[in-house]
Amino acid sequence: MSQRIGLLGGTFDPIHYGHLRGALEAAECLGLDELRLIPSARPPHREQPGATAGQRLEMVRLAAQGGCGLRVDDRELQRDRPSYSVETLESLRSELGDTVTLYMILGWDAFGGLPGWHRWEELLELSNLVVLQRPDYDPELPEVLKDLLAARSVSDPAGANAKAGQIICLSQTPLAISATHIRQLVAADRSPRFLLPDAVLDYIENHGLYRP
Ligand code: ATP
Repeated sequence: MSQRIGLLGGTFDPIHYGHLRGALEAAECLGLDELRLIPSARPPHREQPGATAGQRLEMVRLAAQGGCGLRVDDRELQRDRPSYSVETLESLRSELGDTVTLYMILGWDAFGGLPGWHRWEELLELSNLVVLQRPDYDPELPEVLKDLLAARSVSDPAGANAKAGQIICLSQTPLAISATHIRQLVAADRSPRFLLPDAVLDYIENHGLYRP
């Protein structure tokens, strides 16, 4: 069987247990050989992050040291332009070849915004999509995504073996954790401990991140 690689991109401002638990459960459910965390350098769809790209990368590295075979891929920080996912997938495909099976993992909120992404319709030519439920977000999907789900969804993750083009919706342990809430807690001088790894919290405190 070909190598199965999961990709979780994000702003990770900061990385938290919602990301890490979703990644782990997706990896187990899909039998992934590898899971890469890919921090975005310049996220095109949102406000500028509170931490620099280098600080967010460092926090992702600290979180990945927690084990479970997570790898950190910093390719989006090497590009001097907005971090478009389609270009990241193209770069991975040209490096890894056509025989690997790619799974781009994203939360339900991010999936709902997909039609606004640069060249979004090409994403499924390069990778499968894995959509994680998010308990704190339940956006109504635009018609184009409802049609896409009807055409491309695979109900049994074990049957998701295509190299690209399939959509798998996973219901992992629901964790209503967001980076926004963590930044708000720090700004209000309240502790976000137990929402994110201790090593990441130590980094936030040592660098005075997210303070007003
Ligand atoms: P912010 O609150 O700053 O918008 P965030 O917590 O949504 O940040 P991102 O780095 O934007 O974190 O998310 C990266 C990816 O992880 C996105 O696809 C997002 O939907 C998904 N994700 C984030 N938090 C969770 C969660 N608690 N459960 C499932 N998926 C999540």
